[in-house]
Amino acid sequence: MDYAAFIRERRAEILERVADAAKASGRSADAVTLVAVSKTVGIEEVADAYAAGYAVFAENRPQELKRKQQAALAYPELASVRWDMIGHLQTNKVKDVVGAVELIHSVDSLRLAEAIERRAERLGITVPILMEVNVAGEESKSGFSPEDARLHAEQVIELAHVSLKGLMCMAPAHDAAAARRAFSDLRELRDLLARDTGCQLDELSCGMSDDYALAIEEGSTMIRLGRTVFDPAYALQ
Ligand SMILES: *Cc1c(COP(=O)(O)O)cnc(C)c1O
Repeated sequence: MDYAAFIRERRAEILERVADAAKASGRSADAVTLVAVSKTVGIEEVADAYAAGYAVFAENRPQELKRKQQAALAYPELASVRWDMIGHLQTNKVKDVVGAVELIHSVDSLRLAEAIERRAERLGITVPILMEVNVAGEESKSGFSPEDARLHAEQVIELAHVSLKGLMCMAPAHDAAAARRAFSDLRELRDLLARDTGCQLDELSCGMSDDYALAIEEGSTMIRLGRTVFDPAYALQ
């Protein structure tokens, strides 16, 4: 099977699982945005994914984002593609990302939110962001602790050129029960912050190739899929 056909067929299978999981949470599949994480593939694979129906792509490194966006200029059909940033962002890289992406999922400190604010103000734009929360308290992961998220949400919301849309997390790997707990903890934290601040915070960015069905069942509105979209060797979950 050629690669374009693989991406199309895999997408149909993913959409079926998304619809089933959305139904289990009393929602329609439209409530869930599929974000195709293109960090391990080239622009040709992105173009195939776009042709198959993916409209939102994400990168986790500023330099690779820039490289992809430059490569995309050779593909007129990719001009309208949405790019998101999903990886840890150092404050000195903020200038490369603000204005180049639609949504920054991975805002993991107040300092970073403030750096985004300064850059956005200079450009005269408002930048939609999510606060990344380390809900399971894993050493290896970045993100606000749940306590710090509660402590700082108000300050983030007060930034004039940053628009807080919701929360993001990465769940513990290889442990379905722990992943489900992380997703429901994220949703509960969102509900708490929404109540504390009076802001809607509609978006929950959680769920990856191994665990997106669980994430959707627990309320995810954006799933970030890398391997299952792009890697023929990845066994469908
Ligand atoms: C790589 C990556 C993903 C996608 O992971 P898969 O397991 O390949 O689906 C999602 N989110 C972030 C932040 C990533 O870095």
